[in-house]
Amino acid sequence: MNSEIIAIGSELLTPWRQDTNSLYITERLNQLGVSVAFKTVVGDRLKHLADAIRNAVGRTDIVVITGGLGPTEDDLTREATAEALGIGLKRNPDLIAQLYARAAAWRITMTRNNEKQADVLDGAVVLDNPRGSAPGQWLDIVYGKHRKLLMLLPGVPSEMKPMFDEECMPLLREALPRRFIATRVLKAALIGESAADARIAPIYTQYTDVETTILAHLGDIQLNLLCSKPAIELAQARVDSLAGKIEEELEDHIYSSQGETLEQIVLYYLEMRGATLSVAESCTGGLIAERLTRVSGSSRAFAGGAVVYSNELKTEFAGVDPKLIERHGAVSREVASALAQGIRERCDTTVGVGVTGVAGPGGGTEEKPVGLVYLSVSDRDETEVVERRFGGDRERIRQLASQTALDMVRRRLM
Ligand code: ATP
Ligand code: MG
Repeated sequence: MNSEIIAIGSELLTPWRQDTNSLYITERLNQLGVSVAFKTVVGDRLKHLADAIRNAVGRTDIVVITGGLGPTEDDLTREATAEALGIGLKRNPDLIAQLYARAAAWRITMTRNNEKQADVLDGAVVLDNPRGSAPGQWLDIVYGKHRKLLMLLPGVPSEMKPMFDEECMPLLREALPRRFIATRVLKAALIGESAADARIAPIYTQYTDVETTILAHLGDIQLNLLCSKPAIELAQARVDSLAGKIEEELEDHIYSSQGETLEQIVLYYLEMRGATLSVAESCTGGLIAERLTRVSGSSRAFAGGAVVYSNELKTEFAGVDPKLIERHGAVSREVASALAQGIRERCDTTVGVGVTGVAGPGGGTEEKPVGLVYLSVSDRDETEVVERRFGGDRERIRQLASQTALDMVRRRLM
């Protein structure tokens, strides 16, 4: 079964407002095994609305419409639906009475135009809206020989959400064949999206019953697997099988198979090894520490560290020999390594991390261009340094540096 969500409101076509209702509705529909095939955003124009509704009903089984149910001239969803589907629209006297009763209870005078909120499509089930005035409508119709389900819901998110949960979900559960959904989230670090996809596409395209989506962001790749079956064991077996094959292919690039963040995994490994971590950060300016301390309970393994932006503080807080900085420059293999070792000793932790680089946009030279970063991880047995040249702006360089540092610690502990 597939669906379309139509968000109605001219304000959603301006730079100021976004359609967020559809995100909520998508999550709920997915829970029922219904995927969203299309989303449409339409302004408050009768012809455009009717076109959009006709398109949606023509190409999907379930259509969820939000917005345009209010009392004003530009609230045209009921009229547009009637026109698009060739269904009658009648004012319901019970609903008019309810609208007046509610207005009285709220001590407001109801103007005549409010009565149009009592217009009900022939055959529709009226959906109660205790949090606002416009009721929703549910339609279960045959259109062009096929069964179609339509929902007309308010645009205001605080009215739409409870109406969807309380009124639509039970009706949908009853109307739809029972489906169970299994999901898995795999995460990989520091592999390009296209490189990852080139390796795994031959695998996941074999699993036509599992929906695979790839989200990539700043050195982090998230693979979402979703499968819907009449029994949960069947769905689970399919996502697990695919997840296993992807893990085999991407090997140690995969750091999480249950959706954890990289920092959570690093802390998990540290705790498992009874190890502790400290950091001396120059170009990342505390970003690594910030990411680690986002995780509650991080104090069990993360000791802390220092932001050592100036040369003086590299010496004072991380014990870097000033001669080393003079000879090789602050952005160098030698200084990164001295930062990692120095902070580890100063903080008395099992593992130390040092990062130094040119985040830009200024400050680059021919020899040390913007994006050049040295990262080091040090423990009692070994101090490793890597050189990276990250592209992009300051934010991207800093994010990729923090991602690389965390991933180096993870690999050391693995
Ligand atoms: P209703 O059907 O509840 O009367 P409406 O379209 O008549 O909805 P508006 O006054 O146009 O109501 O919108 C009410 C508020 O809801 C506005 O702040 C609007 O931006 C917001 N809204 C409408 N649709 C959406 C949407 N799809 N996602 C997020 N916010 C929305
Ligand atoms: Mg509107």
